Amino acid sequence: MQSDEAPRPVGVTCPGCGGSGPAVRAVPDVCADPEARRDGLADRLTQGPGLTSRSDTVVHTIEGLLLVFVGAALAHSGIRSGEPLYTVGGSVLAVLMLAVTAGVVRSEIRERRVQAGRPRADALWRAASHCSGCGAVFFPGGVPRSRPLTPEQFRKYVWTEAGYGDQLDERARDAAPPPTDPARPGGVPDHV
Ligand SMILES: [Zn+2]
Repeated sequence: MQSDEAPRPVGVTCPGCGGSGPAVRAVPDVCADPEARRDGLADRLTQGPGLTSRSDTVVHTIEGLLLVFVGAALAHSGIRSGEPLYTVGGSVLAVLMLAVTAGVVRSEIRERRVQAGRPRADALWRAASHCSGCGAVFFPGGVPRSRPLTPEQFRKYVWTEAGYGDQLDERARDAAPPPTDPARPGGVPDHV
């Protein structure tokens, strides 16, 4: 089994326009194409938000809370010794660091969810093909979807299935929901 390779859509026919041949390419091939990167198509078909560095939430939380503690201690000693500068400075530091720490932790939790959903997104992304004739994205063989999708609907579908649909940009978030398959009324279970 060559499960790591993108399926070659040879002989695949686009359900949108009936196109085939060089017009139809696997989504991973399209995204690897420098031209698709330039004109933004690769971004529209991307399988997830970009990940920044690997980070350590625990360390960042401890560092942040230590600074909050330092700020609070400063403010406290300022109150006791009647030094308003310490009181104000310490309070500002404590509040600022609390806000920064909360922000860092929130974004790291988000990244963790993306990492957790990646295998699911990757499987869907690799299974799809793109037709340059009509711009449709579709799954050769019709599984899990038989209808052609726009790149935005495709991205929304993949990201939502992977559990990070809330991180879509507006353009994809506002895309109409993908058409449900007539064979599966109600669009229930996607697995066969
Ligand atoms: Zn087409």
